[in-house]
Parts: sequence; C-alpha cells; structure tokens
Amino acid sequence: KSPVKSSHETKNIPVLKLNGFVGFDSLPYQLVKKCQSQGFQFNLLCVGETGMGKTTLIESLFNSKVESQPCNSELKTVELRTQTTEVTEGNVRVKLRIVETAGFGDQLDKEKSAKVIADYINTQFESYLKEELKIRRCLAYYDDTRIHACLYFISPTGHGLKALDVVTMRELAKRVNVIPVIAKADTTCKDELSRFKQKIISELKANNIEIYQFPTDDETVRKENSALNTLIPFAVVGSTDFVTKEDGKTVRARRYPWGIVEVENEEHCDFVKLREALLRINVDALRERTHNVLYEVYRRDRLREMNMKDGDCGAKMMEAFQQREQEFKTEMECREKEFEKQFIERVNLKEEELKRREELLGIRHKDIEEKFQDEFRKLESHINTLLEEKARLEGRLTERGNGKKPRK
Ligand code: GDP
Repeated sequence: KSPVKSSHETKNIPVLKLNGFVGFDSLPYQLVKKCQSQGFQFNLLCVGETGMGKTTLIESLFNSKVESQPCNSELKTVELRTQTTEVTEGNVRVKLRIVETAGFGDQLDKEKSAKVIADYINTQFESYLKEELKIRRCLAYYDDTRIHACLYFISPTGHGLKALDVVTMRELAKRVNVIPVIAKADTTCKDELSRFKQKIISELKANNIEIYQFPTDDETVRKENSALNTLIPFAVVGSTDFVTKEDGKTVRARRYPWGIVEVENEEHCDFVKLREALLRINVDALRERTHNVLYEVYRRDRLREMNMKDGDCGAKMMEAFQQREQEFKTEMECREKEFEKQFIERVNLKEEELKRREELLGIRHKDIEEKFQDEFRKLESHINTLLEEKARLEGRLTERGNGKKPRK
C-alpha cells in the first residue's frame, strides 16, 4: 500500500459510491481542451554577452528563423529586445515571447547591467500586480509578460564564473527561474567541460546563488528531472546551418575540417536535454513557480510597502486604502502649507530688499540734486561777475571815446 494517505483517509470524509455515470471523469479532457483553445504564454529571457550565441541557440531551440537587430557594441546601457511569436505544435498554441539582452557585458559597470535586467523583470511583475488590483480585472485575457525562465549564457573559458556572471545571476535568481548554460560547448573538450561544470556549480553554491532545479516532487517526472538536474549547467551548441550526412539524413550542425558537431546529438552536447527540460517536461512547472513563488515574493513586498497587512480584504482593504488616501491628503496639505510659508517668506524678503533699494535711490537722488543746486549757484555767481566785468570794460571804452582820460 502506498505510504501516502489519500485526502478522504486523512480528513475522514465519507466516500460516496456512484450508482451511475456522472461525468467527473471528463475533467482532464476539459482541462486539455481549455489549454488547447486558449493556448498559453511562455516568456523566455536570454542573458549573455554579445556574440555568445544567444540568437543561434533560440533559432535552434524553436527550429525557426529569429529576426534580430545587429547589436551595437557601443550601447551605453544594456537593452532588452523583445520578440513575440506564436508557435503551434499539434493542437497546442503557444504565445512565445523571447527577450534578449543587447550590449550585456560591454559596459564597465557590472552592477548597472544587472540592475537594468532586474528592473525589467520587476516592471513585468508590477504590471501584473496593477491588473490584479483593478476592480474590473481581466486576468484571463491579460497579456502576461512575466518572465518564466532565463537562460544565462556562460562563456566557455574553462576558468569558472566571471564577476559579471556572479553579480548578474545573484540578482536574477531572486526574481526568475535561472537556468545556466555553457555557450559554444563545441569549443571545449569533454573532460574539461565536466570539470568546468563542477567548478561553476561549486562557485554558484559558494556565492549562495540559487539557480532553478527541475522539480522532483511529482512522481511522473521525478526520474527524468533528477537526471536533468545533474546536467546543469547544460553544455549547448547552436547552429543555423544544416548538413547532410552520409546516411542521407540532414541535421542541424556545425561543420569543422575534422568533422561535424551535431546540435541534436546527445553524444555531442546537452542541447536535446535542455530542450526537453525547458520545453517538454517543465513548461508548466516554470510557469507555476513564477506565479506561486517569485511573483508572490514581489507582491508581498509591494503590498507591505503600500501599508497593507494580512487579513486586509473587503471592508478592511477599503479601510487600508482610505487610510493611505488620508495619509496622502495630510502629506499634501502639509507640503502645501510649507510651500505657502516659504513663498510668503520669500515675498517678504524681496519686499524688504526693494524698500532698501528705494531708500538708497532716494538718498542718491537728493545728493545729486544738492550737487546740481550748488553747481548752479556757482555758475550764476560766475555769470554775474562776468557781467559786471563786461559793464566795467564797456564804461572805460565810452570814456576813452569822449576824450577823457581813462580812470585808473
Ligand atoms: P548573440 O550576439 O549572443 O546573439 O550571438 P549570435 O547567435 O549572433 O552568434 C555569434 C557568433 O557565434 C556567430 O558567428 C555564430 O555562428 C557563432 N555561434 C553561435 N553558436 C555557436 C556555438 O554553439 N558554437 C560555436 N563555435 N559558435 C557559435
């Protein structure tokens, strides 16, 4: 007997025997139908330095051409470029959003590069939270942009992680399911690759970076996921070229003078395992962890920032909102009063200054007028003296004309 007790055993709920067909057994088909008709959203973020093979791997993963703008290595900051496509396989429709980093690793400030990506992830959480808090929310048709998985491309140097990798993965792991991959694994030999993998894992542990582990609690995928977890970080190879082998089979591969490296050959790299892990087995688990764990942490922190507490719902929630509104109003009133006070003080100061200037001008004006009067008086007396002199000289001239001896 299974050691796990079924729910009716544990909770003592009586088991009802059905006497005929009711229809509950169609539940799994209902769920499948719903999934097929609505499709589902899957958002994948690829982080890695320019030229690491991100675009090529995406193209290999989804077996379709990816249109990407060439990256300008002089970008001042990291840019996140998004592409949205719809993929249909069988009856299932997937709305795929691929976000790639451009210019990552080209800047000197490592923390800033990591912050740009972390901010992007937070912005997607914030949009979802806003929709969730709306009175008329429409989550069923909401275009969910939250990132479900992040492929982090590690350079195949064989020397472990760079400072940029540690800083970025530490920030990312708090917000998104990080799956590290060793890029261009065909450039490293097999033994070196396994040593490199171990080194990366021990460095991640030493830096307390919790990368994503494929879940092993579900019996149906436990074995597969346990095996997949031992392969992390996946050593991947990507290619846009196809090669026809001697047996006539055409495969996606990279051609070298000594032979070919097949992308989908498990002897050559972990590409197939990565594709299985990411797109076949764990799509739902990745989406679930994003919503139930990572978004939940973001939501809790944001609601705490908004002064909401546990148990705040219905009337309580309204109370919390009203309280915040009141706090906001009071704060605005305080600011308005402070502003008014500052304004009056400044006006008074200006008025006093103007008064002082006016007084100064008055004094100067008086001074100038006095000087002018003084000058005027001096000129008048000078004119009078000259007039007297003129009259005296004219008198002498007349006396000389009359034959009189001029007076001395
Ligand atoms: P991105 O800037 O990270 O998107 O890099 P690209 O996908 O544009 O690839 C940059 C260069 O690396 C191209 O010349 C690719 O052909 C090459 N490349 C991509 N993947 C691999 C790989 O797995 N192995 C090797 N050796 N080269 C690769």
